[in-house]
Amino acid sequence: MVRPGAAGRSLLLAAFGALGLAAQSLALTFDDGPNRVRTPLLSPDQRNAAILKALKEAKVQAIVFANGIDGGDTPEGRAALAAWGEAGHRVGNHTYSHLRLADLAAFEADFQRCDAMIRGLPGYTRLFRFPYLKEGATLEARDGMRKALAEAGYRDAQVTIPTFDWLIDEHLRTRLKADPHADLEPYRTYYVEDVLDQADRARALALRLTGREVAHAMLLHHCLLNALFLGDLIHALRANGWTLVGPLEAYADPIYQQAPRTLDTGTSLLRTLAAERGLIPARAEGLEEAYAREKVRLREAGL
Ligand SMILES: [Zn+2]
Repeated sequence: MVRPGAAGRSLLLAAFGALGLAAQSLALTFDDGPNRVRTPLLSPDQRNAAILKALKEAKVQAIVFANGIDGGDTPEGRAALAAWGEAGHRVGNHTYSHLRLADLAAFEADFQRCDAMIRGLPGYTRLFRFPYLKEGATLEARDGMRKALAEAGYRDAQVTIPTFDWLIDEHLRTRLKADPHADLEPYRTYYVEDVLDQADRARALALRLTGREVAHAMLLHHCLLNALFLGDLIHALRANGWTLVGPLEAYADPIYQQAPRTLDTGTSLLRTLAAERGLIPARAEGLEEAYAREKVRLREAGL
């Protein structure tokens, strides 16, 4: 498959290089770790090891946002999380039960429960990732949780580059269950291309919003797809001009100090801020619409 945007990207990269401007950078962040549900091809331990191996080979430091469910709070799950810290990565909080913030007291207790689970681990870092990227259904809940995070010494680990790795992963697992010998190459290609496009779009929006390169935070998941193709993805990102930085380096960017005033759309910090400033429509495509569009694309690609 030929990437229509590839030539444009190289030209842009050359232009930025010639001007001596900073190249684009991003940090890799992995939600829902360590996912220990059964999948085709690889065991939970093999998936965890494969993701860590890809990061090590590429010399990339990343962060995993932990849950207690899906096997996280078991001896094996805690060992899998510890392996991240021991390899030099960060371990953050994604709530114990992957809750959607509705009831503040219940949500806060679940956040604290995850904190208790990860506090003793190497790499423990007070960064919090909201499940579904939703800061809350009401301004009261949102502000209450912002206060609770600050009191616990945590920061909101916002996302600037969302991806559909979780959806592509679902399709990949469904295909493998039906046919254990399915050709995986189309999934690899689609995944890498899709993420490069998401990254390009986020970068363009950040430039419109801030007039500069920001250090991006890319949302990925602890899943089979990344166990298989993370190395390819990192390689492609670098080939397209991206510098991979550690999570704390990315979150030092001032863009992450800008807490949205409105209830966020659950898609990305950049889209929420851009909507607030009228750069994109306030009722711009939300997660559900983006999800539906991606499903069509996957079907069109025969995946
Ligand atoms: Zn999640």
